[in-house]
Amino acid sequence: MSDETPICSAKGCRTAAVWVLAWNNPKIHSPQRRKTWLACEEHREHLSKFLGVRGFLKDVVPFADWQAAEQPPQDASTPPSGETADEDGRHHAD
Ligand SMILES: [Zn+2]
Repeated sequence: MSDETPICSAKGCRTAAVWVLAWNNPKIHSPQRRKTWLACEEHREHLSKFLGVRGFLKDVVPFADWQAAEQPPQDASTPPSGETADEDGRHHAD
């Protein structure tokens, strides 16, 4: 299973994603936690609104920029502080 090609998160959409929507549900995520959805040009607004009306949307960034910012250096073995809080220690399989 390979997810090398980022695909839009919109239901039924197979278009390559060009945007990253960073969001956070304060009810289940610690404040600094960021979930991400991917969006193609067409669905960026739709997905942004979906998250926006719920107050979840934090940021919308071009996919390339997001990757550049998020890719941790390969030798960084120490998790960022605050990311390993007990309350969010489990993996959310959504
Ligand atoms: Zn799409």
